[in-house]
Amino acid sequence: MTHASASRARFTLLRNELKSRKLAGYLVPRQDEFQGEYVPTYAERLRWLTGFSGSWGLAIITLRKAAIFIDGRYTIQVQEQVDTKLITPQHLVDEPPTAWIARNLKQGDRLGFDPWLVTADQAKRFAEACEKVGARLVAVDGNLIDAIWKDQPARPMAAIATHPTQLAGRSAADKLKDIQKAISPNDAVVLTQPDSVAWIFNLRGFDVPFTPVVPAYAILHAKGKAEIFIAPEKLTEDVKSHLKKIAVTRKPSEIEASLKALGKKKASVLIDAAWTPERIRAVLTKAKASITTGSDPCTLPKARKNRIEQEGARAAQRRDGVAMTRFIRWLEMEAPRGGVTELDVAAKLRWFREQTGELKDLSFETIPAAGPHAAIPHYHADEGSNRELGMNEIFLIDSGGQYPDGTTDITRTVIVGQPTDEMRDRFTRVLKGMINLSRIRFPKGTCGSQLDVLARQALWMAGLDFDHGTGHGVGSYLSVHEGPARINKADRTPLEPGMILSNEPGFYKQGEYGIRIENLLMVQEAHEIAGGDRRMLGFETLTLCPIERRLIDLRIMDDGEMRWLDAYHARVLKEVGDFLEGDELAWLTKACEPIAG
Ligand code: ZN
Ligand code: ZN
Repeated sequence: MTHASASRARFTLLRNELKSRKLAGYLVPRQDEFQGEYVPTYAERLRWLTGFSGSWGLAIITLRKAAIFIDGRYTIQVQEQVDTKLITPQHLVDEPPTAWIARNLKQGDRLGFDPWLVTADQAKRFAEACEKVGARLVAVDGNLIDAIWKDQPARPMAAIATHPTQLAGRSAADKLKDIQKAISPNDAVVLTQPDSVAWIFNLRGFDVPFTPVVPAYAILHAKGKAEIFIAPEKLTEDVKSHLKKIAVTRKPSEIEASLKALGKKKASVLIDAAWTPERIRAVLTKAKASITTGSDPCTLPKARKNRIEQEGARAAQRRDGVAMTRFIRWLEMEAPRGGVTELDVAAKLRWFREQTGELKDLSFETIPAAGPHAAIPHYHADEGSNRELGMNEIFLIDSGGQYPDGTTDITRTVIVGQPTDEMRDRFTRVLKGMINLSRIRFPKGTCGSQLDVLARQALWMAGLDFDHGTGHGVGSYLSVHEGPARINKADRTPLEPGMILSNEPGFYKQGEYGIRIENLLMVQEAHEIAGGDRRMLGFETLTLCPIERRLIDLRIMDDGEMRWLDAYHARVLKEVGDFLEGDELAWLTKACEPIAG
């Protein structure tokens, strides 16, 4: 059965379900109850229903109509994956779901949703959109997709592991005390983000690929033990004894009773409405708890890596840099011989990372993009799209690893054969942007939106740009995309020492080629500047791997940029070279030769 005909049958089942519950429509978000980027297969409800596999999407199915909302990354993919006769793709910004609701629902209609999958903030917006036309948003018990999905996979039950204090830099008990101080005068805070739960309890989980978060909710009380809601099957003896002094473990289904107990005590409870399921807000409200909304108190301390985590990041990046360097040498030898495909390359890179002996997982699915595929920033290589690396073509590879001491994310762009002058010009402009951002000094309080232009300046001056953010936060053996700070046109989070961010400007020429260079940076106190009158912050570059010199056009590099690149390569040679010998060391030595005359 094709996905199109499967979808048709599933839409009919869902609509029958709607009729029997007197609903006019139903929301099907891509997210599961933890709002993360990766969801286990049992929770891939949007994909099962529509065929769409992107990491963000929302479908609204009514008795007669259906729309799927996606963002700019997925405009092409959605057309290929869904049956557009059944469901209409809509760009999230051009036509927001709230506008669609107002246009397609009418007086008296009931729009159903699963309150565990929709956040408190989202539910508020959808409810308002419904009310405008006299319709009503209705929380439905039990998920309607689960009700019709006969062969739905089981929930994963991977055992949780402890994350040792030697790597975390602070014990779970100490972190808990810090947060308890931070949440006062509230009596409790409900944590619903799996990376916060992983961070505060020094635990790591393995239910979803690439991201060792702990899919569990927790309630931290201002005094005493925390409560953590987690399937008992996931708790090893080691984890149980680790948690014993700091938390009470309960089954996921017991959270409602604990929330009601908070209401009974008239407790003041902090929730992050942007991430908390509507169900949690509703239960607290009904139980008459007093709710304060604010950001998750773990978010900032998690982002500010402590001294031990910083050391871990350096070690992980060095190790990853050795694997990447060996890989690029291999690629430079093999690709020109022909017959090497994107999937071959991704597998080989994984092998080099595994050779480090420390790899726990990749930090996301490798993006190995040959020729025109490199023009798609979130290209996904599979059997259907797999392409050989061609002569005189650009090859872009974006990848990363999860190591117990740190998470990596690196992009390198190389040329197989000879580049055109245009490729060299564009590559050099991207490189100038990457360098410009890497070496900036900035006063305390500066946020990513103020720095973003640095990575684009050389492109803008040539009438060019790239349509994605310049950088995202990165976790410490956690999510490769971590809040709160980002480097893009809008982010307002002040950058603080210890935060790790990516620096990844690019250039994309549709149908031809794409370029991206990505290093990870860590915010640090900068050395005092002679004659300066205040303390500045700056970035320490963490990623260590040579940059393709055959794509650099020296005529548009200035002296300072060339000196930066030479100093960077000297550092790569010193730190990565220590772990190489023979032909590999000889290759790296050549790749790191100075370019400044
Ligand atoms: Zn990347
Ligand atoms: Zn990245």
